[in-house]
Amino acid sequence: MIISRNISLFPYNTFGLDVLADFFAEVDSVDSFRALMLDSVYETNERLVIGGGSNILFTKDFKGLIIKNNIQGIEEKKLSETEVLVKAGSGLPWHSLVIWSIAQNYGGIENLSLIPGLVGAAPMQNIGAYGVEIKDVFHELEAIDMQSGELAKFQIQDCEFGYRESVFKNKFKNKYFIVSVTLRLANLQQPSTIYKMKTAYGDIQHTLAEMQADGTSIKQVSDAVIKIRQLKLPDPKELGNAGSFFKNPTINSAQFEKLIAQYPLMPNYPNVSNKEEIKIPAGWLIEQCGWKGKVVGNTGSHLKQALVLVNYGKASGSEVWQLALAIKKSVLEKFGIEITPEVNIY
Ligand code: FAD
Ligand code: NAP
Repeated sequence: MIISRNISLFPYNTFGLDVLADFFAEVDSVDSFRALMLDSVYETNERLVIGGGSNILFTKDFKGLIIKNNIQGIEEKKLSETEVLVKAGSGLPWHSLVIWSIAQNYGGIENLSLIPGLVGAAPMQNIGAYGVEIKDVFHELEAIDMQSGELAKFQIQDCEFGYRESVFKNKFKNKYFIVSVTLRLANLQQPSTIYKMKTAYGDIQHTLAEMQADGTSIKQVSDAVIKIRQLKLPDPKELGNAGSFFKNPTINSAQFEKLIAQYPLMPNYPNVSNKEEIKIPAGWLIEQCGWKGKVVGNTGSHLKQALVLVNYGKASGSEVWQLALAIKKSVLEKFGIEITPEVNIY
């Protein structure tokens, strides 16, 4: 097992932050992870698993061991005439799994097209976009207990999935290394499979119409999602970012009534996991506080989506974090709403 020292994490985080890690190792199997566990560097240091680094903000050098995941592979198994189980190695890029599924005509994750990062981090925050979350198609995952080295299986009820949340982001943070994720997808190769695509969300319908597509294939829906995302979101290869920096907050109906009276144009959606609450897009709140498109030193809030904080090239992680704190404070002062980061801060 090769463990490198003083490695720059610049190529390993989509914010493009040039921080150093004391130690760095890559694993490509359960065995190689267990071999790493035997090294004294593993034993004596703080450890952090990374995938694509697209949901991490490093505010300083990492004093410990970075474990870069590179576990590959896709296996499939028939579950029934209409459903298939697809087991993916956690080091596979998420979007390549989506593209593979579409090529097989397996439905369920087409709305999650073009989300950066690797398969192993997808359950971590229950990735979601355009009305679909990974929990909707989740079957099970395998993970190594980072203390004992034992392999455990997690079923859906064990994962405590919520809005951009799971047990792995909370109680089990840095306790398990996810090695594979199995999804239950609709087998559209079978003409008898009944499958309803989700196209009601956001601009999907409108984009399908623009593309002169009738919205009857998962490939069309994926293409529409890709088109919308490419128009709206900054490509981390060109402008460092980690997607939405904050989660969309939810408020109770009393607070909602008060705010909507004051801001009649405030967008709002029901919170699907709690009927008593209303979801308010954090991007709108941030925009109303005057941050959208604002450049602050080497950082800023993106011109097309205020929720995305960007690195204009030379930002430090702490600069991005200071901006995030200033945004958070102004949203609290103006609306009385506490917004919390979606991005993992280190
Ligand atoms: P990393 O950033 O490497 O890691 C994230 C966290 O997961 C860290 O705490 C890490 O320790 C942990 N982790 C990573 N791999 C493992 C593993 N194998 N086992 C245990 N823990 C692990 N997210 C959405 O939900 N929806 C979107 O639509 C979306 N759009 C985005 C658009 C852009 C342009 C960008 C830059 C980001 C976007 N994101 C979105 C955020 C991000 O891409 C996802 O959260 C993604 O799943 C992160 O994957 P990653 O491999 O990069 O994780
Ligand atoms: P948008 O369409 O501008 O909408 C803003 C917010 O309003 C979204 O975050 C979404 O919440 C909510 N929303 C919009 N239409 C909705 C509906 N019909 N029902 C319920 N909620 C609705 O959002 P966007 O920034 O372009 O993003 C589009 C999708 O991609 C969203 O689902 C978003 O979560 C996802 N995305 C995520 C990231 C990330 O890093 N996490 C980055 C980019 C895009 P939800 O977020 O709850 O869906």
